[in-house]
This record gives sequence, C-alpha cells and structure tokens, in this order.
Amino acid sequence: MKIDSKGNIIVGTTAILILALFLVCIFVITTINYIESENIDSKSNDNFKYIIDDYKKNIEISGRQSIAEATDKVFKGIPVSNSEKEIKKNLDKKLNEKNKEFSEKYNINLQSETISVKTSDSPWKILFKVKLTGQKDNEKFSRIIEQNSSVEGLRDPLPIVKLTVLSGILTYDDTYHYGTALSKYMLLNNLKSPESYIEATAPLIIKKCPYDPYIHHGDPGVLDDCLNKGYFHESADGSCYLCRLEGEGKCPHYGFEVFIQTHTPLKEESISCSDHVVFNDHYTGEKIDPDDWNSLILDNSHRKKYGLV
Ligand SMILES: [Zn+2]
Ligand SMILES: [Zn+2]
Repeated sequence: MKIDSKGNIIVGTTAILILALFLVCIFVITTINYIESENIDSKSNDNFKYIIDDYKKNIEISGRQSIAEATDKVFKGIPVSNSEKEIKKNLDKKLNEKNKEFSEKYNINLQSETISVKTSDSPWKILFKVKLTGQKDNEKFSRIIEQNSSVEGLRDPLPIVKLTVLSGILTYDDTYHYGTALSKYMLLNNLKSPESYIEATAPLIIKKCPYDPYIHHGDPGVLDDCLNKGYFHESADGSCYLCRLEGEGKCPHYGFEVFIQTHTPLKEESISCSDHVVFNDHYTGEKIDPDDWNSLILDNSHRKKYGLV
C-alpha cells in the first residue's frame, strides 16, 4: 500500500510538471511569434510610411474633387439619388489613376478601394475611408486609411436640387437669386405669404461663419457682416452636405443652415428664413425690423440661437 501511494504521488507530480512545462512552451512560442510579427509589421510600416502619408494627401485632394464633381452634376440638372455611391465611384476612378502614378514614382504595386464616404462629426468635413494594399518586392501591407476633405468653398447644392434648374433660380455673384422660384414652391406647399419671398437671395458658396458662439450675431454690425459675407452656420436641424446633394432639407447628421434673405416691403408673417425651415420644417416667423426691406424673417428659437431677441 505504501509503495503504491508513493508511486501515485510520483506519477501525479510528474504529470503536473510535464503539463506545466508544456504550458510554458506554448507561452514562449506564442510570445516569440507575436514579437516577430510585430517586428515585421513595424518594419513594413516604416518602409511604407512615406508612401501612405503621400497617399493621404492624395485622398484629401481627390476626395474633394470627387465631391465637387457630384455638385457639378446636380447643377447641370442631373439628380444624384445616392451621394455616397456617386462620390465613391468618382473617387475610385481618380485613385485608380493615382495608383498608376504611385507605382511609377515608388516602384510599388498599389490597389485601393473606397470603403465609405460619410459626414464627419463636423459638417464642414467629409470623412473618407479607403483600403489600400501594396506590394514591393516581397513585402506587403494592407491599411484602411481615414482622411477628411473640406466642403468649404464648394457650392451649396440644396436649393438647385430642391427647386430644379427649370424653376428659374439663378446663380451669380456667389449668390442664389430665387426670382419667383421659391414663392412658387411656397404656393405649392400652402405656406404663408409666398409673395414675401419673391426676389429672395441666399449665399451660394459654403463659408463657415466665424462669429462663434452664434449669440454674438446680436452684437452691433455682426448680423450685417454675416449676411454680406454669406456665411453658413452649424445646425443639428439643418442637413449635411451629402444629404443636400440628394435634395434633403433635413437629415439625421449634424449639418448646417443658412439664412434666405428677403427683400420686400411686405410686413406680414411668413415662413422663417433658415433654409431647413423653408425647405422642410415650414414654421412661421416675422421680420426682425418690419420697416427694413432686407430684414430677416425669423422665428423665436432662431432669434434666441443668434442673439437677435
Ligand atoms: Zn453668421
Ligand atoms: Zn446628412
């Protein structure tokens, strides 16, 4: 009995020791593999870093051109029903050309695919995600590159998409001239005092208003300067650039709004002049100064937002 139990203890201890040794071996092997792959990764990162950095700049420029091409399209009267898809298509075409240039410049084989085109946290920027794979000699890499492009300086597509090129709306001097296009739209939608919006104007080019926080629009001279320069403002209720291309006056993304300025002696209540209200929300407002032909027609919540109470 004694010998047996001693034998059991020896067998048991040996088994535990072997198991422990086995686990240690697995751990060591895994660690070595991990360190090796890390090294390869960082080595190829270093080798390809300057190419990837160069490529990011290229996405920023080509991305913006791809958005501008979609904008050109709607200004020619061709609808864009899916702006993300349209811009993706434009960008992939441009990047394919660029890949050839890069291949010659860096002696590398590059392939790219635009994964997504989305409104970023800021309405002034569109976020691109592009998958880039490359091979040079025996080294390979694959990365998802994220890069923003600005929409500042591009034309606001919403009014032309919403009212169509046939409505008589004109663009010159960086300004939308509505003529009778907007009052006809208001008449069709049974909105109050469509006559007030005859000959209304609005900024054409996306420019970020520097008077931030917006409550400063109530300070002397600020609103006049904002209207003269034709600034756009951030707004949770206004639509983003990508949705504007599709003619959406409102969207789930954080977007912007712009004032549509009336030039009329009429003093009655009409639709409030923020563009998301005119094209989507349709609630009323009144002139800030009833005797001023160029006064904005504004509701209470927008008056509060801009300090115009
Ligand atoms: Zn402003
Ligand atoms: Zn949107």
